[in-house]
Amino acid sequence: MATLSIDPRVSGRTADFVATDHRMLIDGRFVPAASGKTFPVYNPATGEILTHVPEAEAEDVNRAVLAARRAFDEGPWPRMAPSERGRILWKIADLIEQHTDEFAELESLDNGKPFAVARVADVPLTVDMFRYMAGWATKISGKTLPLSAGYDFHSYTLREPIGVVAQIIPWNFPLLMAAWKLAPALACGCTVILKLAEQTPLTGLRLAQVMDEAGVPAGAVNVLTGFGEGAGAPLAAHDLVDKVAFTGSTEVGKLIVKAAAGNLKKVTLELGGKSPAIVFPDAKIDQAVSGTASAIFFNHGQCCCAGSRLYIHEKVFDQVVEGVSNIASDIKLAPGLDPSCQMGPLVSDEQYRKVVSYIESGIAEGARVQAGGPVSGVERGYFVRPTVLTNTNPRMKVVQEEIFGPVVCAVPFGDKDVDAILKRANDTVFGLASSVWTQDLSMAHKVARGIRAGTVWVNCHNVFDASLPFGGYKQSGWGREMGEEVLNNYLETKAVTVAL
Ligand code: NAP
Ligand code: MG
Repeated sequence: MATLSIDPRVSGRTADFVATDHRMLIDGRFVPAASGKTFPVYNPATGEILTHVPEAEAEDVNRAVLAARRAFDEGPWPRMAPSERGRILWKIADLIEQHTDEFAELESLDNGKPFAVARVADVPLTVDMFRYMAGWATKISGKTLPLSAGYDFHSYTLREPIGVVAQIIPWNFPLLMAAWKLAPALACGCTVILKLAEQTPLTGLRLAQVMDEAGVPAGAVNVLTGFGEGAGAPLAAHDLVDKVAFTGSTEVGKLIVKAAAGNLKKVTLELGGKSPAIVFPDAKIDQAVSGTASAIFFNHGQCCCAGSRLYIHEKVFDQVVEGVSNIASDIKLAPGLDPSCQMGPLVSDEQYRKVVSYIESGIAEGARVQAGGPVSGVERGYFVRPTVLTNTNPRMKVVQEEIFGPVVCAVPFGDKDVDAILKRANDTVFGLASSVWTQDLSMAHKVARGIRAGTVWVNCHNVFDASLPFGGYKQSGWGREMGEEVLNNYLETKAVTVAL
């Protein structure tokens, strides 16, 4: 049993779960790694070890894939009445909801985010996703198609599950990312092998128990803990996998594409971003200030859609920068389970070092620090102060690259010509999200059309809903998560034609 260092504020139930001898779910059984190996899970608020989890390697991946293959080819899940699949997905939602506090505590402990945020955002959004997809299970249908060549045929399409799906997720919203992936794949009748992020396996392991309890049959869902290279890579490359769905860095996304080439499995990717938030001079300034601050500081900036490039019209530049900087300076850093916490630590030492080195590189290249900076002043844990940089230029690393931390670059614009500001906003390899802050309806819609990104928010940012498709243009990804659109990720289309 691991040495435990659990925050004294967590409930007994959460502490008990953290202290269990963690097992992966393979073929309906909770099992250790074949090698017996485990790896540590850290508390980012202290840097101490919370517990250990199994380290899946190629052999475990193979067992999980064989189980999912059997479950798809012979098992009940794809053959079950859609209403029964829907009922099980709904039950998963109910069970998560019943354990909201436990899931929120686990997420806060493991990832570092404030408990209050996990409780009102991560967990309810997860519940909604399972419920929303429970509804889709009974509504997957093809079309009857009149042939353009004439009436001598009767043609229709069938939508069928794509098969065995490998899913690989990151650590920023561990439970929610699992739900975004699992719920639609399961609604479509696919079977799944899910690899959790090494930094944050705890809510996913608890979810595995919940899915088992809800009645997901053996092999239909398999949940692995392990590293990217040791478990993710063999999973993405496995010949018996029909499809890989990945969320994470653009860099690893490219590796996934290569790994998938062996058997030409289908691929969808939800990757990084460098999303612009654009404030026009006629915006409601208070709303724009608090909204753009939250666009970057929510979840400590560890959001693929974080509003990390803040373009502000020169007429209101000083006012908005001052407002966002004041908010940044007032944010209280504390462990996620501390009731006073407004921002917790970043997820890991690696991420902490990466974000601090970006801030330092910005300063070295001439950026000015309006709030925050590389020194957090917190004694231990992976804390980074919310940071506002000005005096940047478009070629700086801090402006071009995804930092994935609470760091925003504020840039003035004076252009009256909307095309000029759109050109700057679109000037990255990414195209995930954006927000526009204005009272001018026409301008809002012009910008919405001109931005090359999968999401445009007007006078808001980071609004998510199970019904809204989310995903990237350009190097931000392939395919969409959520909404009706996500079903395309997990379905094949078959055309049936009958000669009359
Ligand atoms: P990452 O390396 O892309 O990790 C995402 C997932 O892919 C994890 O489960 C990871 O395993 C796995 N993985 C890593 N290498 C793999 C490989 N060769 N084959 C298959 N799977 C592999 O992201 P990260 O290291 O956590 O974070 C690095 C950067 O990615 C961040 O700084 C941020 O810029 C970006 N990021 C973006 C998102 C997003 O939502 N777009 C989310 C997280 C991070 P492990 O368990 O070993 O991590
Ligand atoms: Mg990684």
